[in-house]
Amino acid sequence: MKTIKIAHLYPRQMNIYGDWGNIVALQKRLEWRGYKSDYRTVLPGEPYDFSDADIVFGGGGQDKGQLDIAKDLVRNRENIVSASRDGVVFLLVCGLYQLFGNRFITSKEEEIEGLGVFNAETTGSSERLIGNVVVQGSGFELVGFENHSGKTRLSPGQSALGRVMKGYGNNGQDGFEGAVTDNTFGTYLHGSLLPKNPVFADMLLERALERKFGSSDLVDIDDSIAFKAAEVAKERPQ
Ligand code: GLN
Repeated sequence: MKTIKIAHLYPRQMNIYGDWGNIVALQKRLEWRGYKSDYRTVLPGEPYDFSDADIVFGGGGQDKGQLDIAKDLVRNRENIVSASRDGVVFLLVCGLYQLFGNRFITSKEEEIEGLGVFNAETTGSSERLIGNVVVQGSGFELVGFENHSGKTRLSPGQSALGRVMKGYGNNGQDGFEGAVTDNTFGTYLHGSLLPKNPVFADMLLERALERKFGSSDLVDIDDSIAFKAAEVAKERPQ
């Protein structure tokens, strides 16, 4: 049986608003297509070769959680950056999305060094960007929920994940949501993101399968309930 290896980055410190559900969605969608998944966590201080993973997931956390793992993340910089450049699929939500940028300056003016996978910078604010979000990406639409006070600005040349149709996204001003570089995706959307957005979930799986096995053969599954849930979520007030 073909196996996809999924690594979960700092699940104790970085896992809010149901982010762990993204892993369940990936595992189930693989299993329903006859693939196996191999799940492991990556904890601070633990050595791990990220190029061994097919998909790496990292969720959101409070500023405190981000401060707790920041040193360990930067210690892994070369390893993570080279896996990302090599096409390993990364999905990073909120807190870890911020730390895959160049740096995060918290509202208490603490500077947290980021990995620089995304050419972006986040600054803490006194405003809370909270509520339902709808995003139009290229070939997919996303519905989700955001709750952050950090505002992210992409540098020129850095691609966004999509345009905000409802909600705030990266900063509530420029209309961009998330970032994408190679197969590395950053987003502010919690919710969990992937159970509500099966087209995007399959896009991540296809990228991972193509990279590992040279092709992907994901048979259709009945996503009608997820699509209905997304339609309802889209109509909710912000
Ligand atoms: N602490 C960060 C912020 O508020 C990230 C929050 C989150 O991951 N939801 O901007």
